[in-house]
Amino acid sequence: MDKRFPIQDQIEMLGAMLRGRVITPAQADYEALRLVALAQFDTRRPAAIVRVATPSDIATTLNFAQATDLPLAIRAGGHSTGGYGVADGALVIDLRDLSTIDIDTAARTVWAGAGCTAAEVTHAVEQRGLIVGFGDAGTVGIAGLSLGGGIGYLARKHGLTIDSLLAVEIVTASGDILIADNTNHADLFWAVRGGGGNFGVVTRFKYRLQPLPAFTGGPLVFPPVPEIIAAFVRLADQAPDELTAIAMVMPLPPAPFIPVEAEGKLAFVAMMAYAGDAEAAQKALAPFRALATPLADLVGPAPYSSLYMLDPPPEMRGMVAVRSRFTKDFGLDDARALVNAANACTAPMSMSQIRVLGGAHARVATDATAFAHRGSRFMVSFLAMYGGGPDEVAAQERWAGDAVAAVAPVSDGTYVNFLGDAEARGLASAYPAATLERLRRVKRRYDPENLFRLNTNITPA
Ligand SMILES: Cc1cc2nc3c(=O)[nH]c(=O)nc-3n(C[C@H](O)[C@H](O)[C@H](O)COP(=O)(O)OP(=O)(O)OC[C@H]3O[C@@H](n4cnc5c(N)ncnc54)[C@H](O)[C@@H]3O)c2cc1C
Repeated sequence: MDKRFPIQDQIEMLGAMLRGRVITPAQADYEALRLVALAQFDTRRPAAIVRVATPSDIATTLNFAQATDLPLAIRAGGHSTGGYGVADGALVIDLRDLSTIDIDTAARTVWAGAGCTAAEVTHAVEQRGLIVGFGDAGTVGIAGLSLGGGIGYLARKHGLTIDSLLAVEIVTASGDILIADNTNHADLFWAVRGGGGNFGVVTRFKYRLQPLPAFTGGPLVFPPVPEIIAAFVRLADQAPDELTAIAMVMPLPPAPFIPVEAEGKLAFVAMMAYAGDAEAAQKALAPFRALATPLADLVGPAPYSSLYMLDPPPEMRGMVAVRSRFTKDFGLDDARALVNAANACTAPMSMSQIRVLGGAHARVATDATAFAHRGSRFMVSFLAMYGGGPDEVAAQERWAGDAVAAVAPVSDGTYVNFLGDAEARGLASAYPAATLERLRRVKRRYDPENLFRLNTNITPA
């Protein structure tokens, strides 16, 4: 690229070199396309958004970013809690148009484009009686989620999303388009399973699919009583691997199955997911139902994708403060702290959440992937969803920080995909020292100049 031309002209020239589109502030859809899922990043104005159409578009754009020294942001589903999918003055590589889904039913695998959301891939595979587990929200991108680990409703049955990952196609900083798997570029394949977007731009993910002939799931809603929560967590920890629960204390949204007098009040909403035979599901669920009289019980045979029912509608788009922590224990005092945290939150919507891990997630060796929290049986997370100015941002960030410190005072590590942009010590808590060192060596090999640095950044060794 000829540096004598003004940068906007150079960006226009980039557009002429691509199959995809370059969107600059001069274009009508720039204002809509610069936005990401979390509204606290709405003020950010990138130099351009590059809607790439092919891996070679990505290679060309990477080359351009290096030649022009423009900061580079990578965006897939746009749900980064650190806001890494958009930055002032940056070139944003937007992967949304890489959305092909190629299912090989006989081999039980799928190649899914990095622009797909969790719901899109789930809907496509479940029609064939197959499944791969993502997270609890259908709108989240498979790309960012997979690169951090992917903790969802099949964690106990089939492990994290990365435990079903067989290969990636990735464009590295040098513009090479590689397939990384257990035999080719195995170091890179290890690093992208938990190390985030530090090593290149993944264009496609190949997942192993599991048969899912029957599924039982949905919300089981209880009063937010610490004794019920602690007993629930104990049961979920001892349940068969088929059963994974993500449960939270949250204000009840209006819904046909919620008694009007309970609307807006706190409840313990346990999303139950049983991946297996319907009769065995009823047996496994019985002790949970016996804990107390549920305020609502919508757990029944359903498509797996029905679990995305708590996705906020687009009109509720707002700011999100988030903190998470892995823990080895969760008892009655922790349950009390969880309820206290929910009570203390002033945001219109919040989730004080406990995920019960163990099962297949725990059977993967700690050093098998760059996600190293296999020994943690639980993850607590706090999310406040709100609107307002800087004072409100500070208040909600403080709430989330205080909440996590009260429920899990001893840090057993943090989930890299739930690091907020306010968490300065994020990297050290997301990776144990040995994992981080190994990641830094892989980084040196594939991105020695740290081109991919707008992320939870792993610097080259
Ligand atoms: C409402 C909500 C619910 C969530 N629920 C869960 C959950 O249940 N389980 C869970 O595990 N996580 C969950 N998350 C966290 C989520 O996994 C991360 O926020 C993830 O980064 C989002 O991915 P994305 O593609 O949507 O985001 P993006 O903002 O597009 O991507 C995030 C970052 O990942 C990197 N990246 C993304 N795609 C690529 C790529 N193709 N190549 C290279 N780098 C890339 C980039 O650094 C990018 O900035 C949730 C987040 C939200 C906001």
